[in-house]
Amino acid sequence: MADCIFCKIVSGAIPVKMVKKTPDVLAFHDVNPQAPVHVLVIPTNHVASIRDAQGPEGEKLMGRLLAFAAEVATELGLDDSGYRLVINTGPDGGQSVFHLHLHLLGGRRMTWPPG
Ligand code: 5GP
Ligand code: ZN
Repeated sequence: MADCIFCKIVSGAIPVKMVKKTPDVLAFHDVNPQAPVHVLVIPTNHVASIRDAQGPEGEKLMGRLLAFAAEVATELGLDDSGYRLVINTGPDGGQSVFHLHLHLLGGRRMTWPPG
C-alpha cells in the first residue's frame, strides 16, 4: 500500500533494525521502544488491523504471527523472564499505524492493567 509506513519497511524504503526476516513475516525493533526489548512483528502483505484478519485466512495469518513472535522471543532470550504481546486496534486500542502488527515487549516487569 503506497503510503503505509510498514509497507515501506517491507519494501526496504524505510530502514529498520531487523530482527528476523522471512517472505511472509518480519520482526524489527520499534523506533520508539517502550521496554528494553520492543520488537514489532508484521505480515509482509498489507492488512490494516486484526479486524481484517478473520475467517480461515485470518486464523492462518494470526497463528503464523503469534508463533513467529514466540520464536523471536525465544531467540532474544525472553522465555524465562517472560514477555507481553500486544495488538493495539482502532482508536480505543491506541493503534497509530494501520498495518497489522504485534508488539513484543520484554526485559522489564509489565504492569496491569495497561494504561
Ligand atoms: P501502534 O501504536 O499502531 O500499536 O504501534 C505502532 C508502532 O510503530 C509504534 O510503537 C511506533 O513507535 C512504531 N513505528 C512507527 N513508525 C516506525 C518506523 O518508521 N520504524 C520503526 N521501527 N517503528 C515505527
Ligand atoms: Zn502496509
